Amino acid sequence: MSASPDLTPPDTARVSTGVLRITAPNPGPGTLHGTNTYLVEEDEGVVVIDPGPESDEHLSRILQLSSRPIIRIVLTHGHPDHCTLAPALAASTGSPIWGYAPSLASFPLDQVLGDGETIGTLKAIYTPGHSPDHLCLAHRDGVLFTGDLVMGWSSTVVSPPNGRMADYFRSLERLLTRNDTLYLPGHGPLVTNPRERTGELLARRMRREAEIIAQSSTPVTIATLLESYYSHIPPSLSGAARRTIHAHLLKLDEEKRVMTTDGGETWVAVQSTQA
Ligand SMILES: [Zn+2]
Repeated sequence: MSASPDLTPPDTARVSTGVLRITAPNPGPGTLHGTNTYLVEEDEGVVVIDPGPESDEHLSRILQLSSRPIIRIVLTHGHPDHCTLAPALAASTGSPIWGYAPSLASFPLDQVLGDGETIGTLKAIYTPGHSPDHLCLAHRDGVLFTGDLVMGWSSTVVSPPNGRMADYFRSLERLLTRNDTLYLPGHGPLVTNPRERTGELLARRMRREAEIIAQSSTPVTIATLLESYYSHIPPSLSGAARRTIHAHLLKLDEEKRVMTTDGGETWVAVQSTQA
């Protein structure tokens, strides 16, 4: 989370071979400039990754800027800022909507994309954590569309119950086993140092986890943890920050390293009984 991001929308840009990025007009503290929609050229036509939020203006730009007919819509995940435009885009192009199932989207998918499955030049990498239906999409030349899993400008909100910190750790670890050279995220600029950035995000979460365990050697409230870690952020982001701390606590609770004393606000570290 960043304190005062620059929300000037970037120009539409060709960000890798055969990939055009268009940023939707939904800037804000959780979306930076807005949602990135990617137009990917395939042999048979154009694939739209993450059409974005409902917006007539954004719909016209996608249609205008597609060099050839749109043949498919693929969702990185079903959060509204990434996908609510999909039904309108599907209706105006006749293209099917693909994504991971079950999906958080408020409309049905036409086709399911499972882990490791390939459609055209894109291969689905199942990466839950930010959401349970999250896919990264591997493209040619070491390019990976990372959705909201890894972004350059901000860490990811992990908001229970749909967001799960244990899954988020595993998904970051999974990306570290790959050799991608460029990340194209769902918000913000492209990431040119993928391994370094992913390693940094994972290290940050591990550090935070260690801090939480240390601080809960005596009972501590989520409000106190929030004040310790996030006193610098604007009020509009404090709900997301609180939910991310809660996600950490739920992971540690599952691992029997902390427990709550009052149903979820106050937490204390579980003393190891092993010698
Ligand atoms: Zn999201």
